[in-house]
Amino acid sequence: MENIRKVDSIVPDPEIIREAAEVIRRGGTVAFPTETVYGIGANALDDDACRGIFSVKGRQQDNPIIVHISDFDQLEYVTQGLPADLYEVFERVWPGPLSVVLEKKNLGVIPTAGLNTVAVRMPAHRIPLELIRKSGKPIAAPSANKSGSPSPVHASEVFEDLGTKVDLILDGGPAYFGVESTVIMFKGDEIVLLRPGAFSAEDVQRIFKKRVKVSGESPQTPVSPGMKYRHYAPEKDLILGRSEEKIIRACESGNVLFIGSSETAAKLNCESIILGSKNDLYEVARNLFPSFRKLDKSKYSTGVIEGFEEKGIGLAIMNRINKATSGREL
Ligand code: AMP
Ligand code: MG
Repeated sequence: MENIRKVDSIVPDPEIIREAAEVIRRGGTVAFPTETVYGIGANALDDDACRGIFSVKGRQQDNPIIVHISDFDQLEYVTQGLPADLYEVFERVWPGPLSVVLEKKNLGVIPTAGLNTVAVRMPAHRIPLELIRKSGKPIAAPSANKSGSPSPVHASEVFEDLGTKVDLILDGGPAYFGVESTVIMFKGDEIVLLRPGAFSAEDVQRIFKKRVKVSGESPQTPVSPGMKYRHYAPEKDLILGRSEEKIIRACESGNVLFIGSSETAAKLNCESIILGSKNDLYEVARNLFPSFRKLDKSKYSTGVIEGFEEKGIGLAIMNRINKATSGREL
């Protein structure tokens, strides 16, 4: 555990940030909390350092990484810039869990997987912001899990997946939202939602005042390469229970673990992992990925998960559930 440092998420210890910034500057990898999930970061301007991320995670080389910035000067350095009319909007949404795909600049082929675009965002969390500032580098950072596994919400889950392969893990307590950032792209007068995430599609629509199109891409021709891989899945079987009746029946067999809302769990007599109330989808989002890990550690070989309303952060929750179940349902 010698690679883990506890850090206050509100007032990060400058000594520890300095140590982490040094790791980034010399080409190493650092895991840290963000407002979405834990990330594993490296200097985005150093291809060798970015290769380290791919090898530590076991990530496919053709899956580009989001580049994290701390100010608009860095945005100008790593991209060809935003459409002129959108700077004002981004000054309002950043820092925050919204990534935007832009034409790249000054970036190598590794973090961007050879594309001429890059997804960029400014995280709303003191630890990565200070780390980017202190190292003076934009930081390429995907989620800090073993490729394919659920994203980590706690530092202990980072250690569980990556152990000492990552040079340093900053333990700043739980990530806030528990699901990854929303990824968008501008296409003509529309916004294409490449990945639903913590920043709701309704908010994108309201703030940008543009039509938002949910990317209905086929896995063979992904605009956002990462979407074609199996993602977020527990090792055990996970099945979506489409109706309460079906969930009740599955539970009666005694062989399944239920994952879902407190409301539904109260009607069942089988063991449950409660994600939260149906009326608080933010709570459900925070507990979702950790519940997949709990299923793996349980005595059950199958989990049955309940569906949630695809509103607000519910769209991201259902996207992750659908990936984790690979479309299997009761
Ligand atoms: P991760 O960082 O692992 O949470 O995943 C980042 C997501 O952003 C993946 O789905 C990527 O495919 C997507 N992404 C990153 N860069 C680009 C890009 N240049 N164009 C389209 N999608 C991207
Ligand atoms: Mg990921």
